[in-house]
Amino acid sequence: MDVLAHYHMFDYRARCAVAVTTEIVRALQQRHGLDPLTTIALGRAVSCAALLASSLKNGKEYVHLSFAGDGPLAKVVAECNGDGHCRGYTVPVQLLSVLNLDEGDVLPESVGAAMGASGFVTVTRGLAGESQSTYNAVCDFANGEIAADFARYLTESEQIPSAIAAGVKLASDGSVLASGGMLVQKLGGTVLEEQELIDVEQRMALELNLSDRLVAGETTEDLVRLIQGAGGGYGLLMQRPLIFRCTCSREKMMQALVAFSEEQLKEIRDETGKLEVRCQYCAEARQFRLEELLRH
Ligand SMILES: [Zn+2]
Repeated sequence: MDVLAHYHMFDYRARCAVAVTTEIVRALQQRHGLDPLTTIALGRAVSCAALLASSLKNGKEYVHLSFAGDGPLAKVVAECNGDGHCRGYTVPVQLLSVLNLDEGDVLPESVGAAMGASGFVTVTRGLAGESQSTYNAVCDFANGEIAADFARYLTESEQIPSAIAAGVKLASDGSVLASGGMLVQKLGGTVLEEQELIDVEQRMALELNLSDRLVAGETTEDLVRLIQGAGGGYGLLMQRPLIFRCTCSREKMMQALVAFSEEQLKEIRDETGKLEVRCQYCAEARQFRLEELLRH
């Protein structure tokens, strides 16, 4: 089961959130038909969204992360709300479909190479159904590898010193074995030595191998114990499930079509054989009859 666990570290001087997102990324891969690299990119982004949502109070509050680069993988979007409901998508869903490769060309070998040399992270915090209450912040990419870009956003835009890791492990056939992320942040009003956070970052970079440890069956507490090191006490504060769930509805999706005139709708119906809207987040298609669209 996917889970978000919240710990204190260094005797309440830092907080640590651990997100296990394996089932969610598996569902997203199947729904969207993601290829291995887009699966890894979206998995990392979903883990980052779940980690950021760890501070939300209720299901109405949500965070929306968008990573947009100048490479062939143009966009990676992930959302999570305070109830742990996650969703997301990539543009395109498969890199091979957009790469007009010549003989001898090589596929991008990393998420960063696919996202491109420059790009930016946009973070939106908001309340469901209330567009005025959203808050936006933008930050340049660190390297396009998602987790480092998100860490840069947290440090530069939210000005909270943060260490972050996010990883996805795939089997040789491309299926998802494990996905997860980990975020360590200094708690307000406490003293966390710069060196302590650097040590955390180093353990995350050199020893953690998060997705390998999840595949091996390690628990969130095992991960926290490893990252904490000998520098103080840690303890579980809160734990809640994470699940894939989309907030789209037939009513909301109908809005995409009601702006068209009767003639335009008939044209679409005659050309495609149907009046259909597909949700970008969950890939579910809903069909409408001309009469019900004209009534709106
Ligand atoms: Zn949907």
